[in-house]
Amino acid sequence: ENLTAARPKNPFGADSLTKVYAVASGKGGVGKSTITANLAVGLAARGLAVGLIDADIHGFSIPGLLGVTDKPTKVEDLIMPPIAFGVKVMSIGMFLDTDQPVAWRGPMLHRALEQFITDVYWGDLDVLLIDLPPGTGDIAISTAQLLPTAELLVITTPEHTAAQVAARAGQLSTQTSQPVAGVIENMGPLQLPDGTFLEVFGSGGGQAVSDRLTAVLDQHVPLLGSIPLDPVLRADSEVGTPSVLSSPEAAAGQALQSIVAQL
Ligand code: ADP
Repeated sequence: ENLTAARPKNPFGADSLTKVYAVASGKGGVGKSTITANLAVGLAARGLAVGLIDADIHGFSIPGLLGVTDKPTKVEDLIMPPIAFGVKVMSIGMFLDTDQPVAWRGPMLHRALEQFITDVYWGDLDVLLIDLPPGTGDIAISTAQLLPTAELLVITTPEHTAAQVAARAGQLSTQTSQPVAGVIENMGPLQLPDGTFLEVFGSGGGQAVSDRLTAVLDQHVPLLGSIPLDPVLRADSEVGTPSVLSSPEAAAGQALQSIVAQL
């Protein structure tokens, strides 16, 4: 099979039929990578052809979340991505020594993302997810240039201050002309054994970001769901088995499945 001959320059260009979601957050530690990994696996479990690019250079964690230890292989001049739970996965982390700190500049990141898009054999994907670095950095602009059909998914915690930062990340979409497909709240109220809820990070942040972006952007930006704080999600993530598959009955697993169904 001559793979090279069939390869378009940018398979995710303006006329691409692949649905592209860039997953963004205002700051780190809100569960962006955990959610991205689970959404990818959940979509693949529904029979879709799914790719996942981990562009979070300083905090890359997708390989660990999906238990990927394989490196990409080369066939002719194409890079073949490892596959985990049916998802084709490429991570900056696969090319780095994990013990080395990363000091890449914007242009290098842009080039790395470009190579992930043009030099990797993705095949015909239904959905491509990009795990962006937190904040509103260069890579968000690169994503808009390289993946012109990308829509943003904005992750926030329920906290008021976190929501403000997340809304700012979402508002960057006005500069990059990217639609915002929706907001996902994470680390929502934790259900205690007696059935009551503990609002560890407060409440309302997801709705606040949805309202804010709907007001500022010229579109309705829905809140796609709230994923509760759930020790099961953390434990599953740590061993590389996404809750959406391995713990579908857990509180976080259920919320994730409901979000997958809306994408
Ligand atoms: P980010 O990509 O935004 O930096 P991560 O996905 O790395 O965040 O998540 C940060 C930490 O929080 C991880 O240890 C993860 O397992 C944990 N975590 C994320 N979401 C939840 C949740 N809903 N309940 C419990 N732990 C969570």
